[in-house]
Amino acid sequence: MSVNLLDYDLEGLAAFCERLDEKRYRSIQLFRWIHQKGARHFDEMTDLAKSLREKLKTSACIKPLDVISQRLSADGTIKWLFDVGDGNAVEAVFIPEEDRGTLCVSSQAGCAVGCRFCSTGHQGFSRNLKSGEIIAQLWYAEHFLRQQSGTTERVISNVVMMGMGEPLQNYDELVPALKTMLDDHGYGLSRRRVTVSTSGVVPMMDRLGQDCPVALAVSLHASNDVLRDRLVPLNIKYPLGELLAACIRYLDHAPRDFLTFEYCMLAGVNDRVRDAHEIVSLVKTYAPERTWCKFNLIPFNPFPESGLQCSIPSQVVEFSRILTEAGIVTTVRKTRGDDIDAACGQLAGDVKDRTRVVDRMNRQRTVMLRKKLSV
Ligand code: SAH
Ligand code: SF4
Repeated sequence: MSVNLLDYDLEGLAAFCERLDEKRYRSIQLFRWIHQKGARHFDEMTDLAKSLREKLKTSACIKPLDVISQRLSADGTIKWLFDVGDGNAVEAVFIPEEDRGTLCVSSQAGCAVGCRFCSTGHQGFSRNLKSGEIIAQLWYAEHFLRQQSGTTERVISNVVMMGMGEPLQNYDELVPALKTMLDDHGYGLSRRRVTVSTSGVVPMMDRLGQDCPVALAVSLHASNDVLRDRLVPLNIKYPLGELLAACIRYLDHAPRDFLTFEYCMLAGVNDRVRDAHEIVSLVKTYAPERTWCKFNLIPFNPFPESGLQCSIPSQVVEFSRILTEAGIVTTVRKTRGDDIDAACGQLAGDVKDRTRVVDRMNRQRTVMLRKKLSV
């Protein structure tokens, strides 16, 4: 059976080459062709011996994801919908900024955690992505953007695992993809520019710290267990005390500024003055010196089924002021790409609706083809 080489990090590829009786440096060449040059076919790899290329053709492939649609926001954000088979689709979002280009990547089709305020959570869980399907989102976006801007330089400088899914519930497939992102022969991203966002899968936070300590965003959203149990059901299994203890353990493996708390601002639910004060005392309990603590307040992106509303701007400012005055570094996230449903929590990927996906696929393929022809 043909293996998809996108599934391998460099170690995995080296082991695969060994099985083909090829030297390790061949795997480095191959890895660079795939990830740095965006090669899709072995015949492009002109510095590999013809015999090796033939061997590869019979045993392996480079299988990217099919693009169902591509949408461009007025603010330059681009959202791709990728087909992952069986009527499932996942989304990736590119967010250009002056000093960086960030790609938001999905780790699962759907999500089993089921957070109240998240559109992906409302869709339910379909399946874990393979490592190759995670990296394929970066592979596609990076090489598409390079081609579009006529450069051979890197365009994507940051990756955030904040698309669809809970990355730490797909740990074994996540780690090789992260390693490929970090590898100098791959995308060469630094650890602080790759962020895993988690709703708090405590045992896997510990493993990530040991295996691949990248930046970590912890989706907190509540200042006590009663409320967090309702908003993030995983809290019932791993309550706040255990979660915060795991955060502190994570810092044994990573610098302090690698940890951020995400807090989605929900009107009348978690955005009141007393909630802000409760956050401050929570932080004081777990991190008396507070210097490790950074909060990112995310304006809630509403969707009809949630029954929730976004906090009013003055409430976000007030909340932020209370945290900041207590010595907690607090930022408010700018919403990007909401005109194309690409903002946080708006990624739904049509998990359940196969017909719509296929319809859209056909329509968008036509649009893409037209676009390609006019370039
Ligand atoms: N499952 C992971 C990563 C994907 S969600 C996690 O929960 O952390 C990425 C971020 O978007 C999380 O911080 C999540 O809480 C936030 N989010 C989800 N739905 C949202 C919504 N409707 N509005 C704003 N942020 C949302
Ligand atoms: Fe899953 Fe994250 Fe959405 Fe919660 S917020 S349902 S963990 S994707």
